Amino acid sequence: MHALIDGKEIARLVRADVKVRVKEFSEKYGKKPALCVILAGDNPASKVYVASKEKACGWVGIRSVAKKFPASITEEELINEIRALNEDPGINGILVQLPLPKGINEENILCAVAPEKDVDGFHPMNAGELMRAGATLEPCTPAGCMELLKRAGVPLAGANAVVIGRSNIVGKPIALMLLRENCTVTVCHSKTRNLKEILKNADIVVSAMGRPKAVTGDMLKEGAAVIDVGINRLEDGSIVGDVDFESACRVAGAITPVPGGVGPMTIAMLMKNTIIAAEMQNA
Ligand code: NDP
Repeated sequence: MHALIDGKEIARLVRADVKVRVKEFSEKYGKKPALCVILAGDNPASKVYVASKEKACGWVGIRSVAKKFPASITEEELINEIRALNEDPGINGILVQLPLPKGINEENILCAVAPEKDVDGFHPMNAGELMRAGATLEPCTPAGCMELLKRAGVPLAGANAVVIGRSNIVGKPIALMLLRENCTVTVCHSKTRNLKEILKNADIVVSAMGRPKAVTGDMLKEGAAVIDVGINRLEDGSIVGDVDFESACRVAGAITPVPGGVGPMTIAMLMKNTIIAAEMQNA
């Protein structure tokens, strides 16, 4: 028996909360909070992501501004564009859609975004704050995973949590967030020797490795809460997570599907970060 952690529904609840705050903000300041999404080049997947971010802005009442540039834009030109947006009081959040065209250093671009407008939570200052005490603007996907665990009522304090993956955008921040909630955290990666053994003791599993169906039911502890961050496209075009849902759902106590789990949460948390940024800048 397992409970499905419904990311679509929880994302809707998060957006409903954001919508209330956006309305209050708009009434108080006579303007809508605004999110600027920067898209350089014409990566088809990026275009889809940008469109869904624009749609989400519409749902919650955030003003969406799209800045589109050709793949030929230089790093210096892009940094100048970001600096102008940093100075623009009408823009509260800036998101640079990744990946960037060849020749542009992502790190330099992410560092150019003013930390108080960094709604992706990728700026080193926000990453540092996350390590110290918890940042005001936290990376959206890991924050979305935490929201799923909390709203699903998964007990966190004292739980053994295993994170698979150690990237700066998912694995590391989620490990810090779980630690902050008093979980005992183990971080696994491609050099981990005994993943199966480690997982057997996990009350919570967050998988962010990008390996289709690599975590199977026999690897899990009975009743574990499983958050599947992975988005993997198979040859037939279908999308699957890192977790083999069919076998895992027979063992897990609670589990997210792919799609419909973590995915919708990422954009919902982006909306939340945008209203947080707008409130902070106008406080
Ligand atoms: P990265 O490729 O940056 O990191 C993958 C991590 O998984 C690395 O730390 C790697 O270890 C580890 N890993 C790879 N293979 C194994 C293995 N066999 N056993 C244990 N660990 C392994 O990916 P991201 O963190 O950017 O993304 C992870 C997944 O999450 C992807 O599928 C991505 O598409 C998805 N994603 C989903 C989002 C959403 O909104 N739902 C948002 C962002 C990402 P090592 O460090 O040793 O190489």
